[in-house]
Amino acid sequence: MSEWTKSGWRDKPRIQMPDYPDKEALARVEAQLASFPPLVFAGETRKLKAELAAAARGEAFLLQGGDCAESFAEFSADNIRDTFKVLLQMAMVLTWGAKVPVVKVGRMAGQMAKPRSSPTEVVNGVELPSYRGDIINGFEFTPEARTPDPNRMLQAYTQSAATLNLLRAFSTGGFADLHRVHAWTLGFTKSAEAARYRDMANRIADALDFMTAAGITPENNPEITSVDFYTSHEALLLEYEEALCRIDSTTGKPVAGSGHMIWIGDRTRQPDGAHVEFARGVQNPIGLKCGPSLTTDDLKRLIEKLNPENEPGRLTLIARFGAGKVGEHLPRLIRAVQEEGAVVVWSCDPMHGNTIKSATGYKTRPFEAVLREVREFFAVHQAEGTIPGGVHFEMTGRDVTECTGGVRALTDEDLSDRYHTACDPRLNASQALELAFLVAEELSN
Ligand code: PEP
Ligand code: MN
Repeated sequence: MSEWTKSGWRDKPRIQMPDYPDKEALARVEAQLASFPPLVFAGETRKLKAELAAAARGEAFLLQGGDCAESFAEFSADNIRDTFKVLLQMAMVLTWGAKVPVVKVGRMAGQMAKPRSSPTEVVNGVELPSYRGDIINGFEFTPEARTPDPNRMLQAYTQSAATLNLLRAFSTGGFADLHRVHAWTLGFTKSAEAARYRDMANRIADALDFMTAAGITPENNPEITSVDFYTSHEALLLEYEEALCRIDSTTGKPVAGSGHMIWIGDRTRQPDGAHVEFARGVQNPIGLKCGPSLTTDDLKRLIEKLNPENEPGRLTLIARFGAGKVGEHLPRLIRAVQEEGAVVVWSCDPMHGNTIKSATGYKTRPFEAVLREVREFFAVHQAEGTIPGGVHFEMTGRDVTECTGGVRALTDEDLSDRYHTACDPRLNASQALELAFLVAEELSN
């Protein structure tokens, strides 16, 4: 394979990226970003890789989740806090139920570029470029908003830096202290799941009292009062990724400074394409979305390119087939991995293969299909004797009505109540919690 450089992707076929009309402005923004500090420290990405290596062995479990796309308009401390809270709640359910450490990774602090099924959109006979996420263009259906603007990358960087700052404060500043396990409950979750969570929280509080009495205190066990929380996003906008690429001063190797973990989307995983080229050279943990169209040959080539040294924790395969299709695709891909002797984390994204249009015209996901895909994922791993290492969700701490079903049985008609996503439909807090209980059950079986 040829020598890697951070701009080598520019010589490969590029898809799903904007063509910026103002090249001078683009060059200015790239130079500016390149001079800014990275958002994450290389040592953190190495630590995450070690934790994912444990997940590959079945000694930890990956919980990855957050918005489909973060937006400039919904950027607020409350939103960051609420998504963080739900992830903490889910992690607690998984740790309690499955008795393994949970590796917590947000789709946060940089998840702002979106692949689209069509490059343009037609509304009332008017054709404009599709919305590609706030880091690229605006959602509003006007020629001005839809024109890709490189300056948006600077705002995305600033928003990501502020998001990370708050997440770091929440993780270590007392908010994530296990003694506050009750306080992570969101006000509106009056569901059966919330009651189940409170019951578990009571038992955790009892266990903590016991530990304190036995001399196991926060002073000698900092993991009681803080958590490790990592960030991730789809590395789609390669001008942004390249500009934030840095050299890890410890290893001397390149690292993506835009987030701890980056992933390659199902639409941009061509083995000879630009996105795989960029990702293969950075040392971060890499995710690879695996949809129904992924051939076993391509998967083998991708494994060879993305993890030639077979480093544990480097590669997470995120299966997203759709309920009813897991049995057809996952076994053949598992066998391809085995034929390569590759060490990977198998994670399940039960969201992206289950997107439909509701009778009322909204893009939605039936919660029942989401649950079914998770069950199928666990069943296949059980049958193949392999390890289900994680889950990947689109969820929010806000009380939205975007996915149908769940304990509160949202219907197609309910979707219009609080449908806030600019992109894919997310699980709300009570649906996310219900899912966490199901996964915990599957893991403890
Ligand atoms: C996503 O994770 O938002 C996404 C677009 O996923 P996929 O590439 O799997 O379709
Ligand atoms: Mn999505």
